[in-house]
Amino acid sequence: MPTTGRTGLVHMQIETIVVGEFQVNCFIILGGGNEAIIIDPGKDPDVIASFIKQNGLSVAAYLLTHGHVDHVSGIADLHDEFPAPVALHGDDLKWAFTETNGALPFYPAPRAPSEVSRVLADGQELADAGLTYRVVSTPGHTPGSVCFLFVDHDILITGDTLFAGSVGRTDLPGGNSRVLSESLKKLAGLPDRLEVLPGHGPSSDMATEKRTNYFMQSFQV
Ligand SMILES: [Zn+2]
Ligand SMILES: [Zn+2]
Repeated sequence: MPTTGRTGLVHMQIETIVVGEFQVNCFIILGGGNEAIIIDPGKDPDVIASFIKQNGLSVAAYLLTHGHVDHVSGIADLHDEFPAPVALHGDDLKWAFTETNGALPFYPAPRAPSEVSRVLADGQELADAGLTYRVVSTPGHTPGSVCFLFVDHDILITGDTLFAGSVGRTDLPGGNSRVLSESLKKLAGLPDRLEVLPGHGPSSDMATEKRTNYFMQSFQV
């Protein structure tokens, strides 16, 4: 379970639990206290719940980078046990908890949490667990894909929009490569110093992605 931390206004600690057959990075973010932000609990809610309990944590919020089933399958069970606000962009909330999201092997259509109380939109500034962060709308992989920018700690959670050396596929329903390209251009305007934490695979940093990621190189200024 790799850990990264940065010193900012409030200490930020990030734990990663890799969940499910598609090896989604579920991030558990702590802001120095016992409150945790859970990002993309895509499967294995029992494993995530054990981590929460063993570490004496409470859940401040659940953030979903997008609606794909492998990123949201664990949310309802966790929300039942640890109620907290659930956040998802409106363009993915439309279909995330419907039958159309049950196409992957090993993943039936996900059960909806009892409430999705935060409908995300571009530019929203939010605060949980003592940490502030901004919603950066990055459609393309799905219409409602977002990144979460923890600006005080130089952390960018990118979901399936940007991976180390690659980007999310656009051939699934709702995907659009032209729209994704615009979103990547937007991300390329963010500072080089950002650590990039994707929804699958290893972390990276923005400088490396701008320099070496084929899909980002054309946006070099
Ligand atoms: Zn996805
Ligand atoms: Zn994914």
